[in-house]
Formats: sequence, structure tokens, C-alpha cells
Amino acid sequence: MRPFAYSRAPDVQAAIAHAGAGAEFIAGGTDMLQLLQEDLRSPATLIDINGLSLTGIGTDGDALQIGALTRLSEVAAHPDIRNRFPVVSEALEATASAQVRNMATVGGNLLQRTRCLYFRDATMPCNKRQPGSGCPAQDGCNELNAILGGSADCIAVHPSDLAVALVALDARLVIAGPAGERRIAIADLHRLPGDAPHIETVLDPGELITAVRLPMAMADRKSAYVKVRHRASFEWAIASCAVTLSLSGQTVQDSRIVAGGVATRPWRLPQVEAALAGQRLDAPTIRAAAETAAEGAAPRPGNAWKVPLQQRTVARAISTAAGVP
Ligand SMILES: Cc1cc2nc3c(=O)[nH]c(=O)nc-3n(C[C@H](O)[C@H](O)[C@H](O)COP(=O)(O)OP(=O)(O)OC[C@H]3O[C@@H](n4cnc5c(N)ncnc54)[C@H](O)[C@@H]3O)c2cc1C
Repeated sequence: MRPFAYSRAPDVQAAIAHAGAGAEFIAGGTDMLQLLQEDLRSPATLIDINGLSLTGIGTDGDALQIGALTRLSEVAAHPDIRNRFPVVSEALEATASAQVRNMATVGGNLLQRTRCLYFRDATMPCNKRQPGSGCPAQDGCNELNAILGGSADCIAVHPSDLAVALVALDARLVIAGPAGERRIAIADLHRLPGDAPHIETVLDPGELITAVRLPMAMADRKSAYVKVRHRASFEWAIASCAVTLSLSGQTVQDSRIVAGGVATRPWRLPQVEAALAGQRLDAPTIRAAAETAAEGAAPRPGNAWKVPLQQRTVARAISTAAGVP
């Protein structure tokens, strides 16, 4: 770990004013401290944002708003989340461990860095850490890397479970920055790696996520979050799927189906949604729709097994949400 300056921001304006130019935010610190310890980040200054009034969950107009500094455990346990947006609780309860969830925040979770082995090893080249240095995962140890959304420069998997559930709810982010406040769809937060994998989001330098908004129009949908991982706890997804369904009887009026653990960002599956639209849900219909889940996949030699795993994970998530055995 390299030396850095530390300051506590008293309010959002002060946090934004001091960010950028070698300064980075720290919230729960569960990812940031690892990055510092492993010499993967070396900011000149850490701005501690834990003193900002960005905690809590409450109705605000047409949305349920979650402050960006709310701890994952509090979000998962909140009655309005459990009862009206249970896919969020399910994704969070499958995240990390109880201890990590007590410390980790919503904003930090969405902006945590990838677990790609090469990114996490400061002795290895990695285009995300050091643009232009190469991507050894392409022909190296790529079992856990992405089959969707990759480029010749990067095939690192996006790690957040919460982000996958939020895309299935069409959630919005409230962002504060030097130019004022703006709102974006969570689906637009994470960028594809392309030829600039070190630029992971559409956030401008110094911008702070202040809240996540769950549209009340998406409340009470049938939903499910299914996560497959190597260990039952304390482990990121090797495949996951968040599903929200609007049903009339057993017939699909609308659906949002999003894959995690297999792609470079939360991966919406419009072809699966199209295959379900207007259909009465039964096992053969779900199986046929899920067969299309890996369309466009470009597996590497080490991770072709993710293709059938993703299809089965998607099928299981739709079946669980719809209550179809
Ligand atoms: C052992 C272990 C297992 C884990 N397993 C999982 C898992 O299964 N699924 C999963 O999703 N995650 C998992 N995680 C990751 C964990 O959820 C994240 O580390 C955590 O959510 C990050 O939140 P934080 O508040 O600690 O962020 P920090 O570490 O403080 O910050 C992370 C990043 O976000 C930035 N940041 C933080 N808040 C804001 C904000 N409001 N606005 C702008 N930038 C901000 C920081 O600058 C930093 O770049 C695991 C972590 C550990 C240690």
C-alpha cells in the first residue's frame, strides 16, 4: 500500500469539490481497501463519504428511493424492499457474507471492481489497470471470464449482484457532480470494455452516486434472483439471472430478464423477453426461451461451459418467478 492523504467530506458539495485529480471516494471500504493493499489503486487522496446524509429508504414521488450510503444488510431487510421488490433482497442475501453486507454500501457495490484474476494481480499486465499493457485472460486462465460483451482488450466479468437485480427493475440512479444533479437508468451506468476497458462507467470524474430509485410501477411483479457460484456463500456469481414478470394469469405481458456472472456488464436478454411476450408460461415455453439466452456468446476455450450454465440459470429464474415447476 502506498501513502495517501485522507479527508472526511462534511457534505455532498464538499465531496464533489475535492474529488477528481488523484482523489477517490471511500464508502464501506470493502473493495477499496483490497485495491489499496494489493497496490491495484494508488489515489493521492481518499475522500471518506461516510458522514454524508445519504442513508435510508423511503417513498419519493413515483419511486422507492435508497440512499447510496445505505448498507446492503439494511436494504435487504427493509420491509418495503422485501415485500414489494423482493428480487433486490434475494440478490443482496446472495452477496458476499453477513459481515461484508453490514459494511458495504449500495453505491460502492455498483462501482466495485472486477474479480478477473489478472486485474487483481498487480504483477500481471491488464488493460483495465494499465491501458495498453494487454489482456492475458484472452488465452490464459479464463474459466471465470465473460462470454458476452467482451472485446480483444478485455473479457473481465462485471461482479455486482445488486446491479443485475436493479436492471431487471429498470432502476434509476441519482448522480451529483460539479455540473449539478442528473439521473440515468442503471442499465446505462456500466460501459462495454471496447478498446478502453479502464473506463468502466459513464460517471464523469468527481461524480457521486447519491441514490438509487426503484420505480413503483415495477413493484409487486413476480420476480426471482438465481445465483450459481462455486461456494454457497462469500463468493461472486459464475452465472446469475434476475427476472421480473408482469403476468395476466400465466400469460406474460412484460418481462425484464438480466444475466450476471457471464458478461462484462449486467446483460439484458431482449431475445428471451421477446420469446416470452404474450406466451402462457409452461416448462417447454420457458425452456425454449432460455435456449436463446447465450445468443451472441463468444466463449474462450476455458469457459465454454458457461453457455449451457447460463441457459439453465435463466430457465430456472423464469420458472421460479412464474411458479412453474
Ligand atoms: C469476500 C467478499 C465477497 C464478496 N462477494 C460479493 C458477491 O457475491 N456479490 C457482490 O455483488 N459483491 C461481493 N463483494 C463485493 C462487495 O459487495 C463490495 O466490496 C461492496 O459492495 C463495496 O461497497 P463499499 O461501500 O465497501 O465500497 P468501497 O470499497 O468503499 O468503494 C468501492 C468503489 O466505489 C466507489 N464509491 C463508493 N461509493 C460511491 C458513491 N456513492 N459514488 C461514487 N463512487 C462511490 C469508491 O470510490 C470505490 O471506487 C464481496 C466482497 C468481499 C470482500
